[in-house]
Amino acid sequence: MELVELVALRRDLHAHPELRFEEFRTSEIVATVLEASGYSPSRGLARTGVVASVSGREPGPAIILRADMDALPITEKGIHPHLSRHSGRMHACGHDGHMVMLLGAAAELARNPPDRGTVHFVFQPGEEGGAGAKVMLDEGLLERFPAGQVFGMHNWPGLPVGSMATRTGAIMAGGWRFVVDIRGGGSHAAQPHLGRDALTVGAAFVQEAQLLVSRRADPLGTSVLSICVFQAGNADNILPETAVLRGTIRSMDVAALEALKTGMTRLAAGLALAHDVDIVVRFHQPYPVTVNTADETALALEAMKQAVGIHGAVSADMTPSMASEDFGFMLEQRPGALVMLGNGASAPLHAPDYDFDDTIIPHGIAYWVALAHACLRLHRD
Ligand SMILES: [Zn+2]
Ligand SMILES: [Zn+2]
Repeated sequence: MELVELVALRRDLHAHPELRFEEFRTSEIVATVLEASGYSPSRGLARTGVVASVSGREPGPAIILRADMDALPITEKGIHPHLSRHSGRMHACGHDGHMVMLLGAAAELARNPPDRGTVHFVFQPGEEGGAGAKVMLDEGLLERFPAGQVFGMHNWPGLPVGSMATRTGAIMAGGWRFVVDIRGGGSHAAQPHLGRDALTVGAAFVQEAQLLVSRRADPLGTSVLSICVFQAGNADNILPETAVLRGTIRSMDVAALEALKTGMTRLAAGLALAHDVDIVVRFHQPYPVTVNTADETALALEAMKQAVGIHGAVSADMTPSMASEDFGFMLEQRPGALVMLGNGASAPLHAPDYDFDDTIIPHGIAYWVALAHACLRLHRD
């Protein structure tokens, strides 16, 4: 595919973002473009997922190259002509670019396949809070498309265009979402002693929970606890009976996550006892730590140097991110590596004025193609 076609496709996908597991238009376009490149893609895994495969002349190992497909529930505030046509939906994480780069690589590898073995191109729905990677695995991704190694790529604002970065070991945090339900007793604002005010207990929970990180977690470790929603009350003169807090905990270390969960549960029990209210803490949506394996990171670095090494910079020691990636679910099943591709000076991921930089499309394609050849060369065992 020509670059001009890929850019037009990227902008079309950007203008028509779809949220997790609703990527119907997107999925149809991905499958159609793959068919135009000569593939017979499989549809419907994890509802909107698409997988296509190409094999070399000789039998050999198989690898998965994965791109995510979904957008975020954000209203776009950019100024470019391909702005989202849908209020409250936006490709603010660059998954539009991820799809186009993998489609470009699939087109190129259809023309010039690796020596041996098989490349599975996996277009995955529901990355943003939907754990779409896990859904695809649960629905039999690795049974239907067996692969010994898995690879992912994410664009990275702040990393210069023409640069790539990765690291061996933990590269993105694991985490849980949580909901804290506080139930006390409502009362007149002037008679707090006749009720059990859920709002002030909620405020205490917000403050005390911060101490789990600053006083209980190892300062040399990596722990984040963020309470992002606090809902209570609806009148100036009524103390609320209930309060709801929601947020997330993140760490590079599974034991630190467990310690935060235990600490929050104990805090809830303590505040409930102290203030005679009921507090229930529920944890959901676990994401694993995304851990790159050494051999596959070495292969990725080799491909990164081929893709951007001459003019750009390749870092083998990037600072890990406290954000989470559901590609970690795939890396729990198979060795592999997630790498970052510089998106330059764009706004941060998930910001309403973010946009994917189309000039990095050739870098991403070059990386995927070089990686496929590096993994499936004849003289490799
Ligand atoms: Zn994202
Ligand atoms: Zn993303």
